[in-house]
Amino acid sequence: MKLRRLRNQPGWYEIMSRCPICGHKGWCAIDSDQSVVNCMRIASDDYFDSTMGRQYKHYLDPDKRPTTKVEIMQVDSVDKKSNRHLNRVYRVMTQELPLSVFHENHLCDVRKMEESVIRTREYRTMPVGDRYKVAKKIIHRLSDESDLLGVPGFFVNEGQYGPYWTMAGYSGLMVPFRSIYNEITGWQIRVDNPPLEIDMKGAIKGVIKKEIEKNELGKRRAQCEIEVQGKTMIVQLTEKEKKVCTSKSGQFVFSIELKQTQRYWWWSSGSKTNGSSIGGPIPYHFALPAPCMPYWQLGESPEGLIDCSEVWVTEGALKADKAADGLLKPFFGLPGVGSYPLILEPLKQLGCKHVVLAFDADAVSTPEVQQALELCAAFFAENTDMKLSLALWDMSQGKGIDDLLDLGFTPQVSLMVE
Ligand SMILES: [Zn+2]
Repeated sequence: MKLRRLRNQPGWYEIMSRCPICGHKGWCAIDSDQSVVNCMRIASDDYFDSTMGRQYKHYLDPDKRPTTKVEIMQVDSVDKKSNRHLNRVYRVMTQELPLSVFHENHLCDVRKMEESVIRTREYRTMPVGDRYKVAKKIIHRLSDESDLLGVPGFFVNEGQYGPYWTMAGYSGLMVPFRSIYNEITGWQIRVDNPPLEIDMKGAIKGVIKKEIEKNELGKRRAQCEIEVQGKTMIVQLTEKEKKVCTSKSGQFVFSIELKQTQRYWWWSSGSKTNGSSIGGPIPYHFALPAPCMPYWQLGESPEGLIDCSEVWVTEGALKADKAADGLLKPFFGLPGVGSYPLILEPLKQLGCKHVVLAFDADAVSTPEVQQALELCAAFFAENTDMKLSLALWDMSQGKGIDDLLDLGFTPQVSLMVE
């Protein structure tokens, strides 16, 4: 298990490998005894709110505690700077970082976005190489290279001719997160080629040797070295084809599955020299309909441009952008279903009276999301006098609110909290 010391919570570590509760990487935390996980994504009755968002406590079964070696990553990262500073640097970055034709086509053809909207929303591309050149141009436009200190995504690398600034992360489509004052306060990368990893349970060890050609169904495959009962062998695994081995008496022995890691990652550099973590607090995204965007001044609250007495909430920034255009309503894009405490203050500042939650149709039926929704309703009832509603639709009309609107449907809105 890869861990990173949390500065603000002594004795706690961010889990950089897979969280034993939610299975995602990063953001969740574990204590030094490895007995309690504070998961950010899977709800539990025992929770508290922190600058990182709501942390749900899960007590690990002593028999099921992680047995893998703990590796504490050495870091000398710096604290994240103010939103104002981040916005200044990220705005300069948008001038030096283009949007690739590949990503523009994705937004046009797959996401059904218009060219003018794509430009207005300032999506960008994190290139595969030559990132130090971009960093150099950004420094040139800023007053000082120390301006990159405390800006998640940037870090200092050690090169042949000494240290130099560059940019972290996988290559992919960069999606900006905006505050209610139109500041860009962070980015998520929609990774082009999410890395593969092996999910293993039981008496088996394995590593990926190399990725090989996809199969005829377009599924990714890899050559892997596995070790079972002291025997090592090379096997070919195919994405999402889980292999389960049981003994003759029917007892579980091991399971192994090749998986693609998550598609969306924060653009962050907290594990690198002079880098900075995106957390404390993690950004939310606020989306206005595209026609309002040219009139939205930096530092200006949007109530003068659009009625904010009703605000919609979904998961994901791209989805919020698309849904704001489809419904012509202001939208929040949460980084996770359970991260609604992040938007409490922004909602109050907007003078919102009615919040409408529009999570994916398939997600709403899972027990985890149902529990998160109940907690969310209780949270709003406790902390605000806002009405809270749930937007519902049939899965056959689209998975996300953006798909639903694309197909010309509208959701049913039902009141949760008066
Ligand atoms: Zn977790």
